[in-house]
Order: sequence, then structure tokens, then C-alpha cells
Amino acid sequence: MEKYDVIVIGGGLLGCFTARALTRYRLKLALLEAREDVCTGISRANTAIIYSGADTKPGSLKSEMCVRSAQTFANLCSQLGVRYSPCGSLMISFGPRGEEVLGKKMAQGKANGVRGLALLSREEVLSIEPNVSPAVTAGLFAPEAGTVIPWELGIAAAENALHNGAEFQFNSAVTRIEKVPDGYVLEAGGRPFHARGIINCAGLYADGLHEMVAKPSVRIYPEAGDYYILDTKASGVIRHIIFHEPEEKGKGLTLVPTVDGNILLGPSKIPSGEKNDAFPTSKEGLEWLCGLAEQVIPSLPMEHVIRSFGAVRPNPFYVRHDPDTGLLHRDDKGISDFILHETDGAPNFLSFIGIKTPGLTCALELGLYAADRMAALLGNLQPNDAFNPNNPAPLRLKELSEEARAQRVREKPSYGRIVCRCRGISEGEIIDSIHHSIGAKTVDGVKRRTGAGSGRCQGGFCTQRIIEILSQELGIPVCDIQKDRPGSKVIGGKDHG
Ligand SMILES: Cc1cc2nc3c(=O)[nH]c(=O)nc-3n(C[C@H](O)[C@H](O)[C@H](O)COP(=O)(O)OP(=O)(O)OC[C@H]3O[C@@H](n4cnc5c(N)ncnc54)[C@H](O)[C@@H]3O)c2cc1C
Repeated sequence: MEKYDVIVIGGGLLGCFTARALTRYRLKLALLEAREDVCTGISRANTAIIYSGADTKPGSLKSEMCVRSAQTFANLCSQLGVRYSPCGSLMISFGPRGEEVLGKKMAQGKANGVRGLALLSREEVLSIEPNVSPAVTAGLFAPEAGTVIPWELGIAAAENALHNGAEFQFNSAVTRIEKVPDGYVLEAGGRPFHARGIINCAGLYADGLHEMVAKPSVRIYPEAGDYYILDTKASGVIRHIIFHEPEEKGKGLTLVPTVDGNILLGPSKIPSGEKNDAFPTSKEGLEWLCGLAEQVIPSLPMEHVIRSFGAVRPNPFYVRHDPDTGLLHRDDKGISDFILHETDGAPNFLSFIGIKTPGLTCALELGLYAADRMAALLGNLQPNDAFNPNNPAPLRLKELSEEARAQRVREKPSYGRIVCRCRGISEGEIIDSIHHSIGAKTVDGVKRRTGAGSGRCQGGFCTQRIIEILSQELGIPVCDIQKDRPGSKVIGGKDHG
């Protein structure tokens, strides 16, 4: 049986950053991930915003982490070789109720230490965002908000953790955890593992894993959401992240000008009750998005929608066991702050259960928090003096000058063969993505690493070629190449060569 000091369960943003933070110590560490890749859960279906910290309650751990994260995010991205757009955010109101909310967020943000917040008049809003509806009445500008590509960040953190000594075990769903005198024995992917300490970062399923060693105390009650992505043809319609504060009680629309030049709209809020990590969309939610988009940005070219996707919020609630009825009772109010759960009967077992927004913004901080807590629990850990926080950025030919690109093509002709015409991604970059330290194994894995297939045609022209490249580089038949999760083969039937 493989023995480790610490095992991290789950390779989403939290798991990857926790593993990276643990490599600052000298210990034997593994991350067990159920799927074939990192960042296939909540970390790939969210709003991609780096929040300034004006939205969170003063004095909370969430606020403290969020403000610090926003102020240092550009630095983290340059360390990890990840692209970041520090575009700022603008919360807009359409009447007295919204204006009151803006005023409250301004005061809250100031109390939290958010820098550069400014209340704007209607005219000031329209001067920086001319396509917002003329019915707008005021705005709250937060210059330190921004946007990132969540999986690009997660993959970079995972690769950095790997280079610093963490092991990654994919296709290793943890199905059993048993407390033993010197730690825990886990079964994952049909194999046994032993660890002195465990950090549970299993996203939507973190409550179930926690209950393998502890009585139910926190449960996740999921809620669905929907998003639209507009093609880069709509780029420039908005310049900042826009948070719409509606006059009637309820959720407003969020619009994000993404790092790749698309516009992301969403999420809707749909009661679901299902932990469906296939993230289906709902007609109701998508219609709600269209209706609000028309009110907030009337000229938003919805004919340029290229994709919709669903998301699931892992809402955490405390639960209590009623000895009379034998049923679990859920608190009325959900848990709003970040909590790293520990249980008396399960020493050195830490769980992040129901970490929602701003979990992406705070992934680095949450990882450090969990790693340092585990180090304190295990005691006597030595620092890893060889820890290197930097991760080389992958080659992105589009970012090079024409001359530098030509030089690359001379060195490796596959950089000159464009596979994804919408995004201008070459065969060489796709091959690189497959051979990276945590490389792509599926069509979507290639998409997450290179952007190939994420443009206007959504892979209509390039998917076949990407499958051929995956088949050739991984040495597996084209018929066995999956789009995404196991069971999502793109080509049916038998391979006749
Ligand atoms: C709709 C939505 C929008 C959001 N928008 C923002 C935003 O704009 N800004 C922001 O800061 N935050 C945002 N967040 C929060 C942020 O996306 C998450 O906090 C972040 O992605 C962290 O995810 P995670 O690592 O906890 O979970 P996941 O990414 O889901 O990772 C959990 C991993 O655990 C694996 N796993 C599950 N069970 C097992 C098992 N038994 N064994 C092994 N592995 C297992 C899964 O396969 C998965 O890879 C948003 C969240 C939601 C839901």
C-alpha cells in the first residue's frame, strides 16, 4: 500500500492550490482525483471573477482573504504563467433600491480595506460603459476586480505542485475511508492508500466524504445556474465586469468581458436539489438571462451566442440529527463564511465543504490556510527549501511577434499548421498541451489548455483533427478518444484503421 504524509482529495482549484501550498513543506503528498484531469468540476463552470472584496461581510475570513487575494492576484498569475485581465468591476443600479445597495457595498468595501472604490453618477457610468441601458441611475466602480480563466489557473497550480513534489493520481475516486491508529486508509480507483492526514477538497461531494469518518454536520444543498458565452465579435460591448442590481428583490445579471475576448453572461439561479456534475442547462434559466440582458445592455448582440453551459452551487448548511424522528434537520440559513471543518473523532482530517464564491478568487489563500493547519496538526514538518512558486507559461504563439512566431515555426513546423481556425491554435501547441506535465487526455482537456475548439465554430472544424492528434500522441485508437468524462466517446463503432 502506498503511504503518504498527506492526501488531498479532489483536483479542483481548492485541491490544486492546497497541494501546491503543502509542497512548501517536506512531506510525501498525493492528490487523488476521481476524473482524468484537474478542474473538471465547479472549477470549470463559474463566473471567472476575481472579486475586489466589497461584497463580503467585514470581519469575516472570506473578506480578509478576498481583499488580500484581489490585491495580489496579478502577482500570482505572473508567478504561475497565467493570463489575467484586471478590468475592474462596475455595479449598476436602476432606482432607489439599487442605489441603497451600492451605498452599502461602498461602506462595506471601505471597511474591508478595498482600494479605489468610487460611487459614480449616471453620466459617469455611461461615459465608461456607453452600452449600458440609459435607464441606469448610478454605479459602484471597483478597480481591483478582474477576470481569469479558472481552469488555466488550476492547471498551472497543479503543475507547480507536481514540480514541487506532489504526486497526482487520476481516475482515483475515493470510495472508502477508514480511520486506523496511525491515520487513514483510503480506497481510490480500486487501490489502497495510507495517509497521516487528509484534506478533503471534493467540491460538490465533500460532505459525503466527510461523513465517511464523521457524523453528518454540514450538508451541501445544490442549486443550478446557467450561462451564455458570446463570440469575440461582441468584444468591446462592455469593458468592465458588470453587476446589475435589480430594483425588484432577486438576482441580477452579471456580465464578464473574458480574458479571451468573449462576453460571459450569468449565472441564473434555479432550484435543483441535484448534485449533477454533468452541469446541464435549463430552458428557464437561459430565457431569464436573455430577458435581463435586453434590459441591462439593450444592444448586446445575442445573435453571437456561441455556447451555453450549466453550473451547480454547493450551498452548505449545518444539519442536526433529531433523535426522536431519526431525521436530519437543516438550519434555515446557509453557512456564509469560509470554514475548514474539523471533527473531534477524526484527527488530521480537514474538509472544505461548500466553498462557493469567491472560492476562485481566494484559492491561493484557502490552500495556504488548509496546508498550514495540516502542518500544525502533524507537527515537526520541515520547510521545503527547494519550493519554487514559479510555473513556466505554455507557449502561446498568438502572443508572440511575427518574427518570433516565424522562428518557432522554423524550429518546429507543426507550430505553422493551424488546427483551430477560430482561435488560431496550431498543431504544435496542441501536441505541447498533451505532453505537458499534467497533460490533456481528452478533447476538452486540449480545449482547456489551448483554447482550441472554444471559438465561434465550437470545434465544428477542428474536433476531428484534435482527435487524430490525441490518438497519435497518446497511442490510443481514435474510437477511444473521449470528449470529456468517461463515456463521452466522440466516434462510435469500431476502428477500421
Ligand atoms: C455558479 C458558480 C459561480 C462561481 N463564480 C465565482 C467567481 O466568479 N469568482 C470566485 O471567486 N468564485 C466563484 N465561484 C466559486 C469557485 O468556482 C469555487 O469555489 C472553486 O471553483 C473551487 O472549487 P472546488 O475545488 O471546491 O470544487 P471542484 O472544482 O468541483 O473540485 C472538486 C474535485 O473533487 C473531485 N472529486 C469529487 N468526489 C471525489 C472523490 N470521491 N474522490 C476523488 N475526487 C473527487 C471532483 O472530480 C472535482 O475535480 C463560483 C461557484 C459557482 C458554483
